[in-house]
Amino acid sequence: MLRWLDIIKFANNGTPAPDKRVEKTPEEWKALLTEEQFKITRLKGTERAFSSELCSYFAPGRYVCVCCDTALFDAEEKFESGTGWPSFTQPIKENAVAYHKDRSLGMQRIEARCNTCDAHLGHVFQDGPMPSGLRYCINALSLKKVAVSEKKIDFGGGCFWCTEAIFQRLRGVIKVESGYSGGTVINPTYREVCSGTTGHAEIVEITYKPEEISFEDLLKIHLSTHNPTTVDRQGADSGSQYRSIIFYRNEEEKQTAMRVIDEAQKSYSDMIVTQLQMFEHFYKAENYHQDYYNQNQEAGYCQAVINPKLSKFRDLYHDKLKQ
Ligand SMILES: [Zn+2]
Repeated sequence: MLRWLDIIKFANNGTPAPDKRVEKTPEEWKALLTEEQFKITRLKGTERAFSSELCSYFAPGRYVCVCCDTALFDAEEKFESGTGWPSFTQPIKENAVAYHKDRSLGMQRIEARCNTCDAHLGHVFQDGPMPSGLRYCINALSLKKVAVSEKKIDFGGGCFWCTEAIFQRLRGVIKVESGYSGGTVINPTYREVCSGTTGHAEIVEITYKPEEISFEDLLKIHLSTHNPTTVDRQGADSGSQYRSIIFYRNEEEKQTAMRVIDEAQKSYSDMIVTQLQMFEHFYKAENYHQDYYNQNQEAGYCQAVINPKLSKFRDLYHDKLKQ
């Protein structure tokens, strides 16, 4: 998660390179954009406050650059700032937005541009809500809202190397990332989480296509591929970071999760102790934890712990596996 110090660093030393670059002449941009969009994005204009309905629009989806269609912000990071401009706490990726020092109008500000095509978006300030503390104050005219059908769910069920390896193999799952959630420390490290003092659980964030695999199926698979009846423990792994937990994003998901847990209880003689918590933030773990099983299949832990879990999982859910 980016914080103010990262923004200063990028403004001083340059933003990480974008995934691609789009360059056009002013004439080419004019042909693609309305006059208003051109003024804002290519001539660094500012729209009138409260001039767009986008400020108070919070439906799920994604915001892309009006010039080049690069994804910039997710609706999950949008908040009501009361300023009259659409406001976000984070870009969708670290390299989506570029940061430049702006000394115009006698102020010292940090300008936010599309890192792909240099479109002027707005400015970034350090008075946003925690945990990032950032407020991306963005012109609605520089954005385009696109609907996305993919959804996210976050689970903890012991060591994330195991849970990641399981969910990666399911049809309808687009992406699985290992990380931390449910604690009190911003941007925790693996070391801090393992110390048990941050309150975070090791979790995976699963991005999936609901038309191919349902929320309910993912819950059932989660509850049957780890032991949901042991408090703060999975096998030899013990500590609150290994607790069984489901993060829901709305009341409907919470109700579904409670129902699926009730049904799953019939298969266990001990009480299910899986926690249900409202999702707040996912902190991605260090790179060497990502795709761990696939990258380290020869490692002792993968052979001794993950392989048996995977083979049980394959037997149970062979009809749901990727080809
Ligand atoms: Zn762009």
